[in-house]
Amino acid sequence: MIAEINIALTGIRSAIDIARALRAADNAAAIAGARLQISDLVDKLVDAKEQFTEISNLVDARDREIADLKRRLQRSAEVVKHLGAYYDKGTQDRPAGDPYCSRCFEVEGLLVHITLPAHQNAGTTCPQCRQQFPWSRTPPIRD
Ligand SMILES: [Zn+2]
Repeated sequence: MIAEINIALTGIRSAIDIARALRAADNAAAIAGARLQISDLVDKLVDAKEQFTEISNLVDARDREIADLKRRLQRSAEVVKHLGAYYDKGTQDRPAGDPYCSRCFEVEGLLVHITLPAHQNAGTTCPQCRQQFPWSRTPPIRD
């Protein structure tokens, strides 16, 4: 992003130099010469505008990434890993409740409850990513 900012600033500096030359033109020859630079001035301003649009898009993307990372960090403080899944923090930060899919949390930052089977011999499945887990690695934890 620093490179884009430097390109935009260079274009603006060039445009300012051209505008100053136009303002300082005090005779017919100087005015005629300055008018020839007007199209260059416009080109430099258009280039600078495009660079700032690109910079704005980069800043927006970074803001979204920072917000996502903050959400993930907040969620990390709310859960604890136990065996093959994540759980809400219960008493003294111990795992409690139904398991969350470890893959969805670690890869996408999502807390998705794993679907619990009717009996313990069946595996558990994440409804989001379809990852399957052995029951023994993702048991519900009740106080
Ligand atoms: Zn999942």
